Amino acid sequence: MKNAVSYVRVSSDDQAKSGFSIPQQITNNMNFAVQNGYKIDKTFKDEGISAKDLNRPALQDLLAYCMDKSNNVEAVVVWKLDRISRSIADYSATLEPFFKENNIKLLTVTDINGDGLDVEMMRQISMVFAERERKTAALRTKEGIRGKVATGQYPYHAPIGYENIVQKGSKYKKMIIDEANAFFVRRAYVLCLQGDSIRTITSKLYKEGFRNKHGNKHPKTTVEYILRNRAYTGKFYYDGSLIEDTNYPPLIDEATYFAVQKKLNAPEKTRQTHTEFAYNECMTCSVCGCRMTGERKLKTSKKSGTRTYIYYHCTGNRGGECKRTSYVRQELIDEAIINVLKGITIPGEIHDLVIKGLKDVHKEHNKDFEQRKRSIRQRINKIDKMLKDVFESGMGKYSESLQQTIQDWDIERKTLILEEQELLKITKTFFEQSNCLLEFCKNCHRAFLKANPEQKRRIVQIVCSNFSYDGENIIIEPNQVFKTIIKSGLNKKKLPRLDSNQQPTG
Ligand SMILES: [Zn+2]
Repeated sequence: MKNAVSYVRVSSDDQAKSGFSIPQQITNNMNFAVQNGYKIDKTFKDEGISAKDLNRPALQDLLAYCMDKSNNVEAVVVWKLDRISRSIADYSATLEPFFKENNIKLLTVTDINGDGLDVEMMRQISMVFAERERKTAALRTKEGIRGKVATGQYPYHAPIGYENIVQKGSKYKKMIIDEANAFFVRRAYVLCLQGDSIRTITSKLYKEGFRNKHGNKHPKTTVEYILRNRAYTGKFYYDGSLIEDTNYPPLIDEATYFAVQKKLNAPEKTRQTHTEFAYNECMTCSVCGCRMTGERKLKTSKKSGTRTYIYYHCTGNRGGECKRTSYVRQELIDEAIINVLKGITIPGEIHDLVIKGLKDVHKEHNKDFEQRKRSIRQRINKIDKMLKDVFESGMGKYSESLQQTIQDWDIERKTLILEEQELLKITKTFFEQSNCLLEFCKNCHRAFLKANPEQKRRIVQIVCSNFSYDGENIIIEPNQVFKTIIKSGLNKKKLPRLDSNQQPTG
């Protein structure tokens, strides 16, 4: 029998769920190991700890134990991949390479096992979702944000023009209008409707006395945020749904708000020229960290006469010295990206395997969600019935304690409905997104060739985690999932430096 160790973990959240318990994980891992010809040598246990990072005592012990060659560990068994990590970065950059280097297999009882590219891809894709699930769960518990929303409270910092006051006898704060700043908020909307640009509004408000806490000028971005913040209408977006039943007064009426949005979204002439440069928003100068910006330049050659080309150069906004010393032509950037995209192809049979695997992972995730969804629904129905009974009996009118209970039920009901909506969204997007990713991989190189500047920018943003120019080389670092697909070292493309006679004129 081959030697294996077992790793088990529960977070404080998991402890309530069935199927996650430590003893169950230990038994499942044990049975799985035996069935596959392994004997469990040692079990590492992290209790009440999240897998958001690698800072877990038992996990650290496990890694040290694995590294010690005298222990002769051949495999690590986990019940589910998300037990060992819920961070794509930790998994891909640390754990996966660690096990590979030490020639140790990472085996999971409920997820897929194997050495192929398809398995590795699927593990990474499911890791992306494990990470997302963790973030959603964090959001859910964070300061009872959901409970706040259910009571109609604005759950974030009070926007400029409002302030929070503590209410007597309630754990929640109440948001009221801060008249001094509310004046400037209303004024910003008026000026915008009169046709002033955000820049003009910003300086007008400053002249009229609009200041931040430290007595300084509010930046343009703050003014733009004020003009776009839905919360001023007394309604706000929380997690994709519009919360209309709120407990604070509006500052701006809806008609004004929407008229302003229309103005802000109207295409300006200056913006239109900007869109012809595909890489303005996403390419950086790796020398100083500034954005690169596109520019049309004339270039004369004997062969083709005078033509205009798009060149990118560092904006040097941070006072760097590299400003305008080094230009790179758009065609060369396109070519470098196409070279990377060409590497992102998935052979047909692997594509099918991954799809099948994803469906299984999806089903597994769904099981947990379905259970939770059902219990939420049951509770909502129960509350509805209790409310109905109370109202029909007429008792609610007379008893004060019953009135409090009714209020509590109401809040619980609203909280549950928010959670239900969130769950519906997650289950719907899980498979769609993975599928979308695979479809994208099938076609991205061709899609790029046909894309307009806006679409090119989107593709680059999806594929690249680093996209920059160091004065000589275009550096394209794909995201982890794509790296796995590419697997070849085609990350850097050497380019000849544009010497003086190649510099554009004009
Ligand atoms: Zn620079």
